[in-house]
Amino acid sequence: MFHRADLHAGLQALMEAQHPTPKLHLGEAVQDVDVGEGIIKLSNGTEVKKQLVIIADGSHSKLIGKVVGRPCPVNKAPMSMYRFLQPMKNVLAHPQAGKFYKDQPSGFTVFYKTAVGRPGLLLNTYPCRGGQLLYVALLHPTKPNEKSAIQAHEARGEAWNAPADVQDVLSSAEGFHPAIRTICEDASDVKVYTNMWRDPIETFTSARAVLIGDCGHLMLQTHGQGACMALEDAMALEVLFDGVDNPAEVQPQLTKFDELRRPRVGAVQTMSNKMMSPPDQVTTEVRRYYDGPIPGPTAKTFSKEYNDFFFLYDVAEEARRLVDNRS
Ligand SMILES: Cc1cc2nc3c(=O)[nH]c(=O)nc-3n(C[C@H](O)[C@H](O)[C@H](O)COP(=O)(O)OP(=O)(O)OC[C@H]3O[C@@H](n4cnc5c(N)ncnc54)[C@H](O)[C@@H]3O)c2cc1C
Repeated sequence: MFHRADLHAGLQALMEAQHPTPKLHLGEAVQDVDVGEGIIKLSNGTEVKKQLVIIADGSHSKLIGKVVGRPCPVNKAPMSMYRFLQPMKNVLAHPQAGKFYKDQPSGFTVFYKTAVGRPGLLLNTYPCRGGQLLYVALLHPTKPNEKSAIQAHEARGEAWNAPADVQDVLSSAEGFHPAIRTICEDASDVKVYTNMWRDPIETFTSARAVLIGDCGHLMLQTHGQGACMALEDAMALEVLFDGVDNPAEVQPQLTKFDELRRPRVGAVQTMSNKMMSPPDQVTTEVRRYYDGPIPGPTAKTFSKEYNDFFFLYDVAEEARRLVDNRS
């Protein structure tokens, strides 16, 4: 429920406020990693040796196989997402669409579906930037004319950023109620990306290296949990490595990271990837990874039960529990 550009800016501001300020090396691609020796090989020819290597190269990770020991290709859905932002004041002022958004509590989401109870098109909207902008995402079958633009952007490592035509958005929005279609009218700077996912992998760690974020657990954006899980990974590492200065402790701490993160991430990834499946199927799948309390089979997606599962989890507390060996 945030504008990702704002999150990036916020993270950068936090980083720059640190003393001493961490050094961010932009434009220096990692070409390879030796996970056993902790050696990072950069495209400019330099090599850096570290006790701990955190790999976070995103959905199209080239390094995931170094940790997992096998190729881990992404799965591509036949569906893509148009996405754009609309000024919230325009939406609120709209005689038909405005009423859906007036006086709503912070953090609310409004979904629209064209065919209730059957496969249909999905339009997801939520306010971001403190309610100044409305994020709009329209899930639709990938159009032939979009494929080449998406592929070209994927090749550049910007799979989510291909430009799209507002006329294509409007044609996909045709099945929606006219009040809802107005949200798509005059959309500018529309982007399109193809939905991708991986199934949970068998390990996040190998020797001195650990996978975090999308490279370790790419999931469909259905529940908006990808970045949330990446932030939880980061917090888990912060707690598990707090005060660790002995290189011999790196591997035991990474084993704890794996033990902590795989059940939680496996559950969230499965709930996200299988959101459209029958609820009992989702539960059975989730149980392959996680044996704690989960939303029941009658829980509606985006309900309080799901929100509590996602947002009441305290990763720092769980990591501390593991460090202290508490039950
Ligand atoms: C449109 C959209 C909406 C989303 N909405 C939500 C949401 O509401 N909530 C949520 O939690 N998640 C959301 N997500 C998912 C979220 O964006 C991702 O889960 C998150 O960005 C993952 O972070 P990451 O750091 O692992 O990967 P990325 O953000 O992909 O970052 C990976 C970085 O690694 C760099 N890189 C790649 N290879 C190399 C290399 N060899 N050397 C050096 N650098 C390299 C890339 O340039 C990139 O900067 C959304 C995603 C999309 C596309």
